[in-house]
Amino acid sequence: MSSHTIPLHPVPQLEFDAGLIQRLSQSGPRYTSYPTADRFNEQFAYRDYLQAVNHLHVRGARHPLSLYIHIPFCDTVCYYCGCNKIVTKNRNKAKTYLDYLKRELAMQGKLFDGCNQVEQLHFGGGTPTYLSDEQMGDLMQHLRRWFSFTDDAKGEYSIEVDPRSVTVERIHSLRAQGFNRISLGVQDFDEQVQRAVNRIQPEHVTLDTIRATRTAGFRSISIDLIYGLPKQTLASIAQTITKVIAADPDRIAVYHYAHLPHLFKPQRRIAEDDLPNSDTKLDMLAFCIRQLNEAGYVYIGMDHFAKPGDELAVAQRQGLLHRNFQGYSTHAESDLIACGVSAISSVGMCYSQNAKTIEDYYDRLDQGELPVIRGYKLTMDDVLRRFIIQRLMCNFELSIRSLEQAYPIKFDSYFELELKQLGELQQLGLLTINSEWIDVTLKGRLLIRNICMVFDRHLQQAKHLYSPSLRYSRTV
Ligand code: SF4
Repeated sequence: MSSHTIPLHPVPQLEFDAGLIQRLSQSGPRYTSYPTADRFNEQFAYRDYLQAVNHLHVRGARHPLSLYIHIPFCDTVCYYCGCNKIVTKNRNKAKTYLDYLKRELAMQGKLFDGCNQVEQLHFGGGTPTYLSDEQMGDLMQHLRRWFSFTDDAKGEYSIEVDPRSVTVERIHSLRAQGFNRISLGVQDFDEQVQRAVNRIQPEHVTLDTIRATRTAGFRSISIDLIYGLPKQTLASIAQTITKVIAADPDRIAVYHYAHLPHLFKPQRRIAEDDLPNSDTKLDMLAFCIRQLNEAGYVYIGMDHFAKPGDELAVAQRQGLLHRNFQGYSTHAESDLIACGVSAISSVGMCYSQNAKTIEDYYDRLDQGELPVIRGYKLTMDDVLRRFIIQRLMCNFELSIRSLEQAYPIKFDSYFELELKQLGELQQLGLLTINSEWIDVTLKGRLLIRNICMVFDRHLQQAKHLYSPSLRYSRTV
């Protein structure tokens, strides 16, 4: 293991301190929401969601919306997968699903009538391109019937694409249907790794898809990689990251594979002996970060890197970056309407989640109701802590003065306990803190989740009830 500190040049974005990471990496939430989804409860029901939308109307609902559409189907299963998906080759299932999804969209469209301007759309899954070209065209038309979309130059319309599921023509068609951003799942180019995770995706297929997205005029191309997969070695990930950088995408995400077979059944098919050990994984991460920095990518946060001119990097510089269920985003003010099985919305001061099984999802819609099965109403304390966690995750700093001006608290007394814990992290070099600012240091950035966990009241309270390692992935 390399225990030395590796300064990463030329952009001083990140310092990789392997010793510190090894010492402090622990299981923790990814904070795509605060409170996290495991705090949602069944007391929150459909009527609470209606009330939240109603409050938006009463308050004048000035902000544009974000829409998330979940397409749960996949042709085959990747063994590392922790997503909510349905693996089937029976295309009729998608046809039925689309009928219900369109019903849900129409109900949401009616609810948001008068404030239905959409600035951000994201299709995730599963595999959104499991839908045929015709089905996707029809669904996009339906969306336009119920929502009003900001024009292409201003709106962010993105889709997750499995390169194995598309042709060059299909990529052009997606652009014509209105998508202007694309995210491609790659994971690793190495054939042995691909076999070990049951995702055979020849390199030329991925590179052809990237080329097609360019000629089709997509504005942002994002590539997802995973380190820590079975059969992966430092040499294999080094080859992959080098080839991916050469393909010149706007954004690159390097996710850590979280092996949680007690939570995700497909992972039980991964032989634990094939997994790289934690020292090798740290070396893989260090290598990827160094390559990305040298290639000029900016560290956005968590697993994400972007070119300096990419909207995420610009939003970060301007202090406008936001984090939601889809990861980092530039649309801080938007309420998020999420449609499809298991999708999670964030409207006003509430989170709400749809039924998690497709049968339940259909049942609820058959009863003429939106399929909301659980959710959460934020308290003022949650709103305050959500704000702090957002700022730290997105900007790596927090202005204590601004916080005290926006909320009726004295930071020192309200967060007395937290300040003690932050003091310990300060001693370890993760952050600096004075009466005005909390600043995350360059070597604290990779451990940002550790810092945010200090402010997570629910996690702190629940720590004595269960071990976070049972529910969450490791922080690095
Ligand atoms: S990783 Fe993506 S394509 Fe593979 S099974 Fe999971 S959702 Fe489907």
